[in-house]
Amino acid sequence: MLINADRLQDFITEIFTATACSEAEAARIAANLVEANLTGHDSHGVIRTERYVGWLEAGVQLPDQQLTVVTESPSLAVVDGNYGMGQTVGPLAAEKGIEMAKANGVAVVALRNAGHLGRIGAYAELAADAGVASIHLVNVVAGLLVAPFGGRERRMGTNPVCIGTPIEGADHVILDFATSVVAEGKAYVALKGGKPVPFGSLISGDGKLTDDPSVLYGEPTDDGVRTAAGGPGALRAMGDHKGSGLALMCELIGGALTGAGTAGPGRQRFCNGMLSVYLAIDAVDTDHVYASLAREYIDYVVSTEPADGVDEVLTPGEPERRRRADRLANGIEIPDDAWASIVDGARQAGLAVERIAAYDRA
Ligand code: NAD
Repeated sequence: MLINADRLQDFITEIFTATACSEAEAARIAANLVEANLTGHDSHGVIRTERYVGWLEAGVQLPDQQLTVVTESPSLAVVDGNYGMGQTVGPLAAEKGIEMAKANGVAVVALRNAGHLGRIGAYAELAADAGVASIHLVNVVAGLLVAPFGGRERRMGTNPVCIGTPIEGADHVILDFATSVVAEGKAYVALKGGKPVPFGSLISGDGKLTDDPSVLYGEPTDDGVRTAAGGPGALRAMGDHKGSGLALMCELIGGALTGAGTAGPGRQRFCNGMLSVYLAIDAVDTDHVYASLAREYIDYVVSTEPADGVDEVLTPGEPERRRRADRLANGIEIPDDAWASIVDGARQAGLAVERIAAYDRA
């Protein structure tokens, strides 16, 4: 199914409005998920609808929460997301950090107990739009999926790292990635017969590198349900010891230090922890050289002759910008099983049958 972004946004908004979420929160969730699809990160887009609806019903994530400030100074805020939807408490935490950095030059915000924060680049983009560079270390509590370097058992989440900066007169540069070789969503697509994942992105229960996603999901069950909790194997951290080390730092700084907790044993309730550093460019750039130096350097970097088989060298953030322009113009492709799961989510939320049908015929 090929669907226009506005129409998809309307459908997802209606679904979450049918849950306990306010209409404003429903619209925020929808905008954030559709934006992930627009930027090409389908694994963090509208495919999450059914899971979020289930979490809301089960009380894993709560509607319309505010941040609780645990402690605050001019440069540091420790805030609790109270298991609110990530699309509400995430932007609230980012706006707080941006405001503090604008006032004091630098700010650190430690966010604990956030619902799923989705695409972390969204928060770096928010900051960059306000003239603020940012660094985000994120962990995933109750999201054990990744084996550390040298190990074969799951010990970490897919722990994203994100660094973004505005550059006056140029596009923002936004680096935003999971520290696993591939996101779990990509392994799921491969399991369903879609694009294969690279060899070595998974490790089997007996310690062999593989590209077989069934090591993560286990063998098919009688009821046909296969979750990432089912298999004996694990995703692998990207970049060998370096990526594995980054993921570990996300657990320590993004999880343990923020108070969210780690992916270690004993925690059953999903949440993200996020430690963010915000830097107001104007405050640091006392000689007003940053923009021109950054533009000059980026031009230099992308001017290299491409490697064999590569068309063009890009900066981080550019693939997302291009995909957004393309998908805004030409629509967002949703695979059949992803659409079926969104419709299941709509039913589960209690959206009226005729409203679902109105979009199902789109
Ligand atoms: P990915 O592997 O697609 O990497 C994306 C990053 O690499 C972007 O910064 C992109 O601009 C850059 N990039 C891609 N191709 C490039 C090229 N040719 N040249 C230069 N730069 C290039 O991303 P991923 O690891 O699949 O992560 C997907 C998303 O999942 C991210 O937005 C991440 O924040 C999110 N995530 C969230 C959670 C959570 O719990 N909330 C957990 C894991 C991942």
